[in-house]
Amino acid sequence: MKLAEITNFLENIAPLNYQEDYDNAGLIVGNANDEIHAALVALDCTEQIIDEAIAKNCNLIITHHPIVFKGLKKFNGKTYVEKVVLKAIKNNIALYAIHTNLDHVAHGVSGEICKRLGIQNAKILAPKNNLLKKLVTFCPTAQADEVRNALFAAGAGAISNYSECSFNAEGTGTFKGGEGANPFVGEVGLQHREAEVRIETIFKVQDERKVLLALLENHPYEEVAYDIYALTNRLDNVGAGMVGWLPQEMDNVDFLNLVKQRMNAKVIRHTALLPKKIKKVAVCGGSGSFLLKDAIAAGADAFITADFKYHEFFDAEQKLVICDIGHYESEQFTSNLLIDNIQEKFPNFAIRLTEHNTNPINYFI
Ligand SMILES: [Zn+2]
Repeated sequence: MKLAEITNFLENIAPLNYQEDYDNAGLIVGNANDEIHAALVALDCTEQIIDEAIAKNCNLIITHHPIVFKGLKKFNGKTYVEKVVLKAIKNNIALYAIHTNLDHVAHGVSGEICKRLGIQNAKILAPKNNLLKKLVTFCPTAQADEVRNALFAAGAGAISNYSECSFNAEGTGTFKGGEGANPFVGEVGLQHREAEVRIETIFKVQDERKVLLALLENHPYEEVAYDIYALTNRLDNVGAGMVGWLPQEMDNVDFLNLVKQRMNAKVIRHTALLPKKIKKVAVCGGSGSFLLKDAIAAGADAFITADFKYHEFFDAEQKLVICDIGHYESEQFTSNLLIDNIQEKFPNFAIRLTEHNTNPINYFI
């Protein structure tokens, strides 16, 4: 199988433009046309993981965390990042990371925590904006259906559980073809008036090329009239963290025990327990302290995430219980999530879960 088949599938689940600016998700080492015979999945790409891939004859490693975040200027093998990248290249192993883009989709990293804890009706905690654009085009009335349907087929007009959404208004367009023009209707050198439909529809930023291609291929005019607007609307099903409800409210201690057991957490660092039951729960896989305000605003009774600093714990202000379960612990099931998705799509492809725990943090209890 070509590497591009897998990466296209993963980028369909978690589009690359959903990642944070500081991130480096995507294909880090390898060529999209490489032939892939087996893949290894892990949370982190370490030398141990490269060795495992070599031993298991896997020529693709898919991890949550990218091995490279910043530009590398030297390849001398002096840092673990250089060593890993060099070893991967020498052994013809492709490296792919699916990171904050997977954090930002409802069925991603935080969605998996919700599933493990039985949290119901979970929604994105902090939806992102600037991910939508609007297309307006002006089309002769007789061809409007064909153009509109082509736009829909390319992904335009889809809003949460609705598809084929558009607004249409009838009006009159004018144009005069000059020398060398070959107008679809009317004559060169004469102003023409044509009954047109103004079609408005939205699309996701990552579908822009596809949607424009569909417009240009299906619109009958030689010079297609269209406008593209950037929208600042939120996209409710894309963003960081999730919030939802436990099936039944729980005492604080019972809740901590449930989290500890379901998330294989050796220890939970938490703020003071509160004299109220836990019912609404916010979660964020990995470093989620930046979402504390959103968790409080959403009315969560508890916030499960990782990497809280000492002073940040004070910011809970007895409004909720912060549960810091550890970065690795909060994301450990991401590998299983990736394998399940890939196996469902490519049942005959050899994909393996690493046997190693790549958590760099150890606990002395
Ligand atoms: Zn992480």
